[in-house]
Amino acid sequence: MIEALELSPALQALWEELGIEPHFFEGRKLCIYPEAKQFVEVDDIDGPYRICPEVLSPWLTMRDAAKAEGLSILMVSAFRSYEYQAGLIRRKLEQNIPIQEALTVVAAPGFSEHHTGFAIDINSPECEEAVTEYFEDTPEFTWLTQHAHKYGFYMSFPKGNPQGYIYEPWHWCWRSS
Ligand SMILES: [Zn+2]
Repeated sequence: MIEALELSPALQALWEELGIEPHFFEGRKLCIYPEAKQFVEVDDIDGPYRICPEVLSPWLTMRDAAKAEGLSILMVSAFRSYEYQAGLIRRKLEQNIPIQEALTVVAAPGFSEHHTGFAIDINSPECEEAVTEYFEDTPEFTWLTQHAHKYGFYMSFPKGNPQGYIYEPWHWCWRSS
């Protein structure tokens, strides 16, 4: 099924450079995400971050609702370009991590939901290391599991996800209803 994926020339060049072969993904339910074209900037810790304009209002409304209950949901990553994603993989390769191992923790360029501008990585002040499983032990995570759907945000990679990614309690994506 991955053979049927249309890789743009830019993506094809990046995959070749990084040594990513389509057969790596056989049996996984993956799709190529288009890169967002329009953005707004959001200020947050180590930001600003870029998201699609449609996501701004749901995000701010959700953040305020959490704040009203004494919780701080912090944006720590949002839009990423294909090139940025390739940079994340280059860094793994420089640490002599084999490409197939790198791809279990970093999505191949084209496969990251962050390309869409709809996905947001969230942290809590109680979690010192962002984008780790420790996030699931925070009150912010518990609140998100109960309320995020009201604002259109869903956890993309729960335990045992069919895409074959690790469990990512910090990664939430907005969907238009
Ligand atoms: Zn993420």
